[in-house]
Amino acid sequence: MTDRVIPINDGRRTKPFPPKGESGGSERSAQDRLGRRLHDLRISVTDRCNFRCIYCMPRDVFGPDYAFLPKSELLSFEEIARLARVFKDHGVEKIRLTGGEPLLRRNLERLIEMLADIPGLDLTLTTNGSVLAKKARALKAAGLTRVTVSLDSLDEAVFRRMNDADFPVSEVLNGIDAAAAAGLAPIKVNMVVKRGANEDSVIPMARYFKGSGHIVRFIEYMDVGVTNGWRMDDVLPSAEIVRMIGEKMPLEPVEPNYTGEVAERWRYRDGSGEIGVISSVTQAFCRTCTRARLSTEGMLYTCLFATAGYDLRGLLRGGTSDEEISDAIARIWRARADRYSEIRTAETAKLRKIEMSYIGG
Ligand code: SAM
Ligand code: SF4
Ligand code: SF4
Repeated sequence: MTDRVIPINDGRRTKPFPPKGESGGSERSAQDRLGRRLHDLRISVTDRCNFRCIYCMPRDVFGPDYAFLPKSELLSFEEIARLARVFKDHGVEKIRLTGGEPLLRRNLERLIEMLADIPGLDLTLTTNGSVLAKKARALKAAGLTRVTVSLDSLDEAVFRRMNDADFPVSEVLNGIDAAAAAGLAPIKVNMVVKRGANEDSVIPMARYFKGSGHIVRFIEYMDVGVTNGWRMDDVLPSAEIVRMIGEKMPLEPVEPNYTGEVAERWRYRDGSGEIGVISSVTQAFCRTCTRARLSTEGMLYTCLFATAGYDLRGLLRGGTSDEEISDAIARIWRARADRYSEIRTAETAKLRKIEMSYIGG
């Protein structure tokens, strides 16, 4: 290992809450400093994972000595549900459970039931699919609406190299089938593309899911955290991916479903479905970013590439009322000016950013 920084749960720096402004009070649908509203909340329910994807939790850092959070540090389901209600009052309409691997959090179905009780929330989850075949029906019964499943290759050797946990493709495909059978559709399949690692899997992946009703989203490899040793040279630009697929299976662009949609949509000209590309590196979409992230231990981050967060757990456990928490969230959001992907350079890539497995993808 050369000059890579080993964080061991570093990046958990806290920022002071912004001071009360003249207007004071909580304000539903407050805009941040760039005029963006708070619309989506991603909640990380565990920092642990049974995979060691090379671009997310490299095994040489996340090894047997890595200090994951102890249970007492995690937000309880009651704490998560309480915050979700407060966020809902701020205009959040969509909650995504993530991690780490969210399906490793014990009794997650119970949390889903609690969140599904909040009216008007779109409730989804991102998973590596490893235990989805077992859990899909229970997740649906608990009130989950959809799932996104990550799968980086259909080639056995490539996939095992990417997940670095010797996990087979077939079990993830079984998970996708079980989720579809349980009614958790349409399913999105996330493939992170790392040049030199799995770019040859792009076409087979598109071909396999074409006509299935599932939507593959090709994601540019990002400089999240500090452990993955990201280099710009490892990024395969989305435009290149669209070109590669379009050459074999002609594509045409599709209008976004809504403003701020992360994936750019393309459909097959023969009417057999669509794909998405997420170009966080080559075509930043900060201008329409309406997402906040709640970490496993209750820190609020206003950007995926943040270097510090706001300690909401401290408020929850310090006897603060919902109204005061709501006021703090409004102040945090109004103070937000994040636009990391628009200003990314080789230098910013070295900042001590929070790991994705902790902040939630
Ligand atoms: N463990 C679950 C999974 O893999 O789906 C949920 C958490 S994971 C951090 C969420 C998403 O982030 C996954 O689709 C994963 O592929 C993606 N991801 C992780 N590290 C990434 C990176 N460096 N660049 C781009 N996407 C990344
Ligand atoms: Fe685990 Fe998901 Fe990160 Fe892979 S991407 S190591 S499955 S959290
Ligand atoms: Fe949003 Fe930050 Fe990503 Fe920009 S870099 S889209 S502000 S999370």
